[in-house]
Amino acid sequence: MKIPNLLLANTGTTVFTVMSALAAQHGSINLGQGFPDTEGPQDVVQAAADALLDHRNQYPPLSGVPELRQAVAHANKRFYGLDIDANTEVVVTSGATEAITASLMALLNPGDEVVLIEPLYDTYLPVVRLLGAIPRLVRLQPPKWELPRAELAAAFGPKTKAILLNTPMNPTGKVFTAAELAFISDLLIRHDAYAICDEVYEHLTFDGWRHIPLMTLPGMRERCLRIGSAGKTFSLTGWKIGYVSGPAALVGIVAKAHQNLTFTSAPNLQRAIALGLAKDDDYFEALASTLAARRDRLSEGLAKIGFDVLPAQGSYFITADFTPLGFAGDDVAFCRHITEHAKVTAIPVSAFYEGDAPRHYARFAFCKRPDILDEAITRLAHHFSAQPLTQTVRSA
Ligand code: PMP
Ligand code: GLN
Repeated sequence: MKIPNLLLANTGTTVFTVMSALAAQHGSINLGQGFPDTEGPQDVVQAAADALLDHRNQYPPLSGVPELRQAVAHANKRFYGLDIDANTEVVVTSGATEAITASLMALLNPGDEVVLIEPLYDTYLPVVRLLGAIPRLVRLQPPKWELPRAELAAAFGPKTKAILLNTPMNPTGKVFTAAELAFISDLLIRHDAYAICDEVYEHLTFDGWRHIPLMTLPGMRERCLRIGSAGKTFSLTGWKIGYVSGPAALVGIVAKAHQNLTFTSAPNLQRAIALGLAKDDDYFEALASTLAARRDRLSEGLAKIGFDVLPAQGSYFITADFTPLGFAGDDVAFCRHITEHAKVTAIPVSAFYEGDAPRHYARFAFCKRPDILDEAITRLAHHFSAQPLTQTVRSA
C-alpha cells in the first residue's frame, strides 16, 4: 500500500484529547483541556435554540450570516476603535482553529518562512508544515515570558512571510505589552511581512491588563488577520464559531481557504453569537473578573501546596512549577501521576514546545466552578501532604 500523508500520519493525537480521556478514565477533575464547566449566557443559548425553529437552517452565506459579520465589525470598533467593513473584511469560521488554518493557507506559499513563538498552541506547527512553509521558532523563557527581542529580530529574514502571534497567550497567560507589539510591528514593516493574530482570549484579561490587538498599531491595519473565538468570549467552546477580521484583499483569500475547508458553520449559532457580541459592558467585565477570581483561587491553593505558580495576566490558564514538591519525573509523568493518584488532571507544558523543552511545568485551567477548584486543591493537598502556607504566589 502507498503511504498516506506522512506529516499527518506522524502527528500525534492532541494532548488535550489524550489528557481528557485519561481524566475520564480515572474519574479525575479535569483542569487540563481548557473549557468552562458552566454554560455560557442563557440569552445567547436561548437565541440559538429559537433560531433553529425559524426556517433558516440551510447553508448560510460563505463568509457568515450578515448579522454576525456586522456584530464582529461593530465589536472591532467598540473595543479597539478599528474600522472593519462587515461585507468585505470579516469571515466567520468553524472556530478559531479553522480561522488559523485558513489564514495560514491564505498567506503562505511553499518555502515561505513563518515566525512562531514558543511555547505555542498545538495546531500551528503541523499546519505550517503541511503547507510546505518553514517555521522559525523563537522561545519565551519562564517565569516572565518576555519577548527576546534580539532573537526575534534574528528570526526575521528575506523569506519571512508572517508571524503567528497569540496574545493573550496559551499556555503562559502572558498579555503582550504595547512596547513588545511595537517592536513586532517594526519588524513586520521592515521585512514586509504579515501577522496572523490569534486573539481568542481577547476579553479574558485581569488586574487592569488590557488586550491590545497588533492591528491597532500604526501601519498594521493592512498587515494583520485578527482572529476571535465565540467559544472563549461566551464560554461556549463546543459551538466552534470563530471570526477573522482584516483587510479586504487578505480576507477575500481567507474566504477562499474557508470555502475549501468547511464552507460555513451552523446558522443558528452564528445568529446567537451576533446577539452575544452586542451585550453590554457589564457582561464582558463580569466574564473577566469572575475568571480573575478563579485564577486567584487556584493559584493560591496550588501555592499553599508548594507549587511555584507563575503569574498569568490573561487566558484560562496558569502554569506551575512542581519542582518544590520533589516529584521524581518530568511533566508528562507528573500530569499522568496526579491524574491517576490525586485525581486531578493538568497539561504538561512541554507539549507546547518542539524538541527540547522545560519539563517541570504543568498547565492548570481555572475556568471551572469554585467548588470544583476547591476540591481539586483539596485532593492535591491531601496527595502531597501539604505544609500549609509555605509558599506564596509570585506577584505579577
Ligand atoms: N487558539 C488558542 C490559543 C486556543 O487556546 C484555542 C483553544 N481553544 C484555539 C485557538 C481554538 O479556538 P476554537 O475552539 O474557537 O477553535
Ligand atoms: N484550546 C484548548 C486548550 O488549550 C483546547 C482545544 C482543543 O482541545 N482542541 O486547552
